[in-house]
Amino acid sequence: MRFPLSLTANLTGYLAGKKIRGEEKFPLVMMLEPLHACNLTCTGCGRIREYKSTINEMLTVEQCLAALDDCGAPVVSICGGEPMIYPEIGRLTSEILKRKKNIYLCTNGMFIRKRLNEFEPTSRFFFNVHLDGLEKTHDLCVEKDGVFREAIDGIKAAKAAGFLVCSNTTIYKETDLEEIAELFEVLRELGVDGYMMSPAYSYAAVQTKDIFMSREEVREKFQRASQLLEDFNVITSPIYMEYLRGERELMCTAWGNPTYNPRGWKGPCYLMTDAHHATFKEFIDNTPWEKYGRGRDPRCQDCMVQSGYEPSAVLGGNKKLGDTWKMLKWQLSGRMGGAKKGAKTNGHAYGKGNGHSNGHSNSRSSGNDNGHSTSAPIPTSGAPKEEVFRIL
Ligand code: SF4
Repeated sequence: MRFPLSLTANLTGYLAGKKIRGEEKFPLVMMLEPLHACNLTCTGCGRIREYKSTINEMLTVEQCLAALDDCGAPVVSICGGEPMIYPEIGRLTSEILKRKKNIYLCTNGMFIRKRLNEFEPTSRFFFNVHLDGLEKTHDLCVEKDGVFREAIDGIKAAKAAGFLVCSNTTIYKETDLEEIAELFEVLRELGVDGYMMSPAYSYAAVQTKDIFMSREEVREKFQRASQLLEDFNVITSPIYMEYLRGERELMCTAWGNPTYNPRGWKGPCYLMTDAHHATFKEFIDNTPWEKYGRGRDPRCQDCMVQSGYEPSAVLGGNKKLGDTWKMLKWQLSGRMGGAKKGAKTNGHAYGKGNGHSNGHSNSRSSGNDNGHSTSAPIPTSGAPKEEVFRIL
């Protein structure tokens, strides 16, 4: 199985209920940002710029739960900022799990070992560790030595304690896909249960635009990624991967992955902010959805991001005959905790990343959309480091 059966069952029941009720716009994955503070200080962070004035604010656990109840999504991606510095992260996850929801806790992995005892392993909870390459590359991306090794130690500790762990990798223009294959092999040997990938996308606030890809470049990159990484338990959906490879078109369904943070429901999507809404209903009703997407808004022109298009595989209007069978076959053909058959072990140690394959040091860690803290790197200036360490 590619995912735990409980997750598949929850999603299937949820979707069936929505279909029976004839609902059109509903969420699949709630992107919950309880805070925007982060322990890392990378260059070019979209979140730190956009939310500079509220960087010290945090949602209470009760506010997070009220927002979850408001939208009703079956899956919650807890992101930020770095959610592992949220003081009540243990209580937050346990309250969400009591509601029978599924959680991906998106983290840079640096505090897994320190706070592991605040969590209970269950098939509805994943640590989702963001890694953009092997040691040198990743540490350059996050502008701090030792982050990769601490994340790897966190993964080892979590696996030893019986937790599900997946990884999340942002693919940039100069990402060395051979190195990503090496990274996945390292993670496979640690028993990691799945691998997410997403193309980087430029936040309006990020100045280092040269690291991001055009649609054509995304297509070329993901064609190669599919060839190289097919033997791993990639948990990015096959329909979204077809879109990334340029084999089909999808319409943006940004309401499928709505973002909630200290300012409210962020519209229209994880990347762009034209408004914040007090309730999920207001977010759905007051967002002019017909104005967003490729060909409608110039800011959407090259967008192929996960939060806008992965839900389209399930929610989108341009489904193809055989999509349901394709998704079912994909779920059944996966293997958690190890690579699919045929994966080769090449004996690379995790310290072997060369770090120069991408040619970027500081800038590459900005602009992904999958809700992990290192996707929202925070520069030193203005970052609430004292606040972070006070919390810890
Ligand atoms: S196309 Fe991309 S940028 Fe535009 S609304 Fe959808 S997710 Fe947001």
